[in-house]
Amino acid sequence: MSMGRPRLVVVGNGMAGMRAVEELMARDPDRYAITVIGAEPQPNYNRIQLSAVLAGDKALDDIVINGWDWYDAHGVRLIAGNRAVAIDREARQVALGDGTRVAYDKLLLATGSKPVAPPIAGLGLPNVRAFRDIADVEAMIAASQNTRRAVVIGGGLLGLEAAWGLKRRGMVVSLIHLMPTLMERQLDGAAAALLHRDLDARGIAFYTNSQTEEIAGAGRAEAVVLADGRRIPADLVVLAVGIRPNIDLARDASLDVNRGILVGDDMATSDPDIYAVGECIEHNGQTFGLLAPIWDQAKVCGARLAGDAGVVYVPPPVFTSLKITGIDVFSAGALAAADDADEELTLHDAGRGLYKKVILRNGKVVGSVLYGDVADGPWYVELMREQADVSAFRDQIAFGRAFAEAAIASPQAEPAPPIAVEADPAATGLQCRAA
Ligand SMILES: Cc1cc2nc3c(=O)[nH]c(=O)nc-3n(C[C@H](O)[C@H](O)[C@H](O)COP(=O)(O)OP(=O)(O)OC[C@H]3O[C@@H](n4cnc5c(N)ncnc54)[C@H](O)[C@@H]3O)c2cc1C
Repeated sequence: MSMGRPRLVVVGNGMAGMRAVEELMARDPDRYAITVIGAEPQPNYNRIQLSAVLAGDKALDDIVINGWDWYDAHGVRLIAGNRAVAIDREARQVALGDGTRVAYDKLLLATGSKPVAPPIAGLGLPNVRAFRDIADVEAMIAASQNTRRAVVIGGGLLGLEAAWGLKRRGMVVSLIHLMPTLMERQLDGAAAALLHRDLDARGIAFYTNSQTEEIAGAGRAEAVVLADGRRIPADLVVLAVGIRPNIDLARDASLDVNRGILVGDDMATSDPDIYAVGECIEHNGQTFGLLAPIWDQAKVCGARLAGDAGVVYVPPPVFTSLKITGIDVFSAGALAAADDADEELTLHDAGRGLYKKVILRNGKVVGSVLYGDVADGPWYVELMREQADVSAFRDQIAFGRAFAEAAIASPQAEPAPPIAVEADPAATGLQCRAA
């Protein structure tokens, strides 16, 4: 029973908040009486798998992480489908949308982020959606069953996964991207060109280098109009142009915020009784949009809430991979050499759709972009995390772990020629030249 225990209130029943609760409970399950407040009406689910649900590869039931019975079994009170609207720090209470209040001794904010809305007309039309939660996916699936033409705005990870999911659902899909290349924050030009080519072949129509002027329609979106006057007919418009940390509650409660809710290495905000984790935070000038660093934040937060003052957050190297069946993309760290002192080691076989780039700085891996064969991605991340000196197998590193380990095992063997392969998207066959 909760009598006498301090009260921990978590705002946000998403991936970060619930992971922090699980980390806490693994250490000290009975320390707090826990209440979780979630704006979404569902129990906690795996948000990254929304792409698989949209594409028809998974059902909503498959992506639940902590079902209703988990909360009961662990004595956690879940208030789902109810939004926290204010924090009264003096009274130590959270006010909810239905007018009720929940008292806390410790508060954890895990409010995630919200989709960026570009400054264009037509955003409020009913068939314009973001790609963020179950309600969005249900609306997109319904649209695919009743209508035909989808336009996705945004050619990053989310936009591409939305486009592919809708294509799989049988829609005619166009994708508009402001920049000249797709996923420009994760991919260099050569990898982006391969991705563009492969998705083009799957029937998605791309409008890169294209600015959206407005979403036109009377009562419903009927077309997306580009700045150059082109008009793309649409029965469904999906916005995926970026995310912004959800800081409203924290800002209104006078916690320190910038782009995100400011936290220290202990995940505490400017109020020592209020913690924050996930996409809503800003740590050392950095905000977050991927799970790997968020899991580490949850671990630190859970430990701190359990009373362990020795655990601090150190941001790990992060990597991205695209979840489109048959298209393997991987990216971690730097995309290109920062200056002449950095080395770019590249393999490029455009005919086979293979591309591998490893970036070295002072003999250490600082970035990697892979397309087609991504098996070595986790190894490059491991080398980055360990800041390993790779000079001993520098010449083999772009070929992958097996070649590098063979080189270490028999150092007398004739080394492979140093490789520096030009990125030529038109090329076929393996392009290598000695550096
Ligand atoms: C379609 C999709 C695909 C993705 N794919 C990947 C991937 O492949 N790899 C990867 O690493 N990451 C991926 N991500 C990102 C990943 O899902 C997020 O980084 C992660 O979910 C962030 O966790 P969070 O808890 O901070 O936010 P969320 O999971 O969004 O949880 C925040 C929760 O807080 C609730 N909330 C907000 N405000 C309030 C309030 N005032 N009161 C009550 N509740 C509130 C929200 O409704 C939400 O349920 C993907 C995201 C999406 C949308």
